[in-house]
Amino acid sequence: MTKKFIIKKEQREKKRIARERIDILFTLAERVFPYNKELANRYVEIGLAVQQKAQVKIPRKWKRRYCKKCHSFLVPGVNARVRLRQKRFPHVVIQCLECNHIMRFPYLREKKAKRREKQ
Ligand SMILES: [Zn+2]
Repeated sequence: MTKKFIIKKEQREKKRIARERIDILFTLAERVFPYNKELANRYVEIGLAVQQKAQVKIPRKWKRRYCKKCHSFLVPGVNARVRLRQKRFPHVVIQCLECNHIMRFPYLREKKAKRREKQ
């Protein structure tokens, strides 16, 4: 094995661990949210710090579960409003009710998959 190869392997391993930690932190945030909102937000902060340090993507599952502006953990129907919109492009609108920040997530990929299914 060359040195370069070993370094690459190490980096991959680091990223895998980072993603795993992010998943654990968000799972914890979801669990403590009903009892302790502050703690849930703290877990999000730590998760985002891990994400930034390791330069990985937030897992798809958790991407829509925190506010990009105030970093609050979001629970639809509790502190987040979720609406579907078709105007211009199909997207999900998530509004953080803590700071009223609005985030839009397109779901074109899902729509295209459905179209393909129909054919
Ligand atoms: Zn917010």
